[in-house]
Amino acid sequence: MKLSENAVKVLEKRYLSKDENGNLLENCEGMFRRVAKAVASADAEYTDEKGIAKLEQEFFDMMADLEFLPNSPTLMNAGRPLGQLSACFVLPVEDTMEDIFEAIKNAALIHKSGGGTGFSFSRLRPKGATVNSTGGVASGPISFMKVFNAATEAVKQGGTRRGANMGILRIDHPDILDFISCKKDNSEITNFNLSVGITEDFMKAAEHNLEYELIDPKTKLPAGKLNAKNVLDSIVEMAWKNGEPGIIFLDRLNKDNVVPKLGEIESTNPCGEQPLLPYEACNLGSINLYNMLTDDGKALNFAKLAETVKKAVHFLDNVIEVNKYPLPEIDKMTRGTRKIGLGIMGWADILCSLGIPYNSQKAIDFADKVMGFIQENAQKASRELAEIKGVFPYYEDSVFADRGLRLRNATVTTIAPTGTLSLIAGVSSGIEPIFAISYIRNVMDNNELIEVNQVFRETAVRENFYSDELMRRIARVGTVRDMEGVPGKIQNIFVTAHDVSPEWHVKMQAAFQRHTDNAVSKTVNLGHTAATDDVREVFILAYKTGCKGVTIYRDGSRDLQVLNIGGVK
Ligand code: UDP
Repeated sequence: MKLSENAVKVLEKRYLSKDENGNLLENCEGMFRRVAKAVASADAEYTDEKGIAKLEQEFFDMMADLEFLPNSPTLMNAGRPLGQLSACFVLPVEDTMEDIFEAIKNAALIHKSGGGTGFSFSRLRPKGATVNSTGGVASGPISFMKVFNAATEAVKQGGTRRGANMGILRIDHPDILDFISCKKDNSEITNFNLSVGITEDFMKAAEHNLEYELIDPKTKLPAGKLNAKNVLDSIVEMAWKNGEPGIIFLDRLNKDNVVPKLGEIESTNPCGEQPLLPYEACNLGSINLYNMLTDDGKALNFAKLAETVKKAVHFLDNVIEVNKYPLPEIDKMTRGTRKIGLGIMGWADILCSLGIPYNSQKAIDFADKVMGFIQENAQKASRELAEIKGVFPYYEDSVFADRGLRLRNATVTTIAPTGTLSLIAGVSSGIEPIFAISYIRNVMDNNELIEVNQVFRETAVRENFYSDELMRRIARVGTVRDMEGVPGKIQNIFVTAHDVSPEWHVKMQAAFQRHTDNAVSKTVNLGHTAATDDVREVFILAYKTGCKGVTIYRDGSRDLQVLNIGGVK
């Protein structure tokens, strides 16, 4: 097995089966075997025992060779009694006490199984509105979000990983200003990522410095006006302060809603990459591009990539089948649309090993080529599956029926953050630039792991400039820019998230979005000294280049960063 020591540590701590005393019941190979067996079993009605065994071996090899990994809940739970395999859920929050607390209960069940939940709070009546049954006044979406947050906090202690939530409020909700500033105090609502749901009308009003109307979701009546530019300024100001809220472009999510007859998309999963209908779940999986190089390491092996995409789509489609859903409503919706989200990890690593700077037009062109290829092949694989196993049950309600495009899955691609998967595979996460050439990672329970970028290490050895002393110096600042002892050419290629200007971050996100059915998880990093104007420019550029949302992070603006540069002493 190719797993690093760090990867084994993470897997042993949180992924491998254990008995009640905490003794391991399987090793890493056993975990991949368990997952491959469970996922391959979905083909039982289409093939014989030999066929299943062959498929199981294919799935096993693909994971054990670190070419493809399914999202964490699949690795943790496949072939085990819990059997909940999806990372992403969206739950509806209706404007009644029963429904609000029902959503809290459902979220708790999902968190317990390792999944994350997204909610739109836009249907809740605003603070101060009347409550008919009591004659009292409503406390509004933000106060209820705090209850969701507290429930998540409590479940955290028993779960395999901390529960994560996305909270969304529409820009025209009367409580929008409170929502924008509700995480001003960093210790509040800590188990939520927040995004403002923005509309095209709002963006136009902001551009022309006009007012826009607030709507009371309960009465559907106008509830006052705000100046759009001022509201955008408040979002920018808060995002500059501590990275939140992010924004999502609701109209864009719905333009790409392939089953509009089933409802409107109002929220995404916690990290923003997966827009879903209420009660929909999605399982993700990521191809490790760094393991898709040709034998001489000089190019991307497109034939191998095509083959891996095909197997990965088959794998993810089977996951829908063997998944045990936490609620009957989720079972129905998820099996109805059969959405899957295939993405990549190791993007920065492959760019570095091919000598392409992340912040270059060449990298953007390559992104278009690679993701275009993945999208095309993933859709082809879904079409082929449909021929054998049938189209997704809600196909007739989908836009594909009009086009005659017979697919097994309503969506096929998503770019996930791959926070843990990339650690297991030992490559750069998702499509992010290398965070630091060397850094300390805080994992659960404040354990520290020290990481040095493997591609850099190999390059330094090959080009004869490796020394322990140099690695230590680099670790102190994270970057090799202007670093004595590192050749200029290498400095240009091995750019880190902070060396890359915000514009290139957004351009890269937009390039991947062009070829992704769902959305792209990406953080646009800004230096500590960036101004609020820089944040505004990022928002506008993301809007103009067709991104579905954007999240920024200004270095040092939050007290506890998951990743720290310069932590190695
Ligand atoms: N997620 C979660 N809790 C976590 C990390 C992730 O619920 O601690 C969910 C969330 O929906 C997120 C998705 O998993 O958007 C994918 O995250 P990531 O790719 O980082 O997960 P991995 O599979 O690498 O663990």
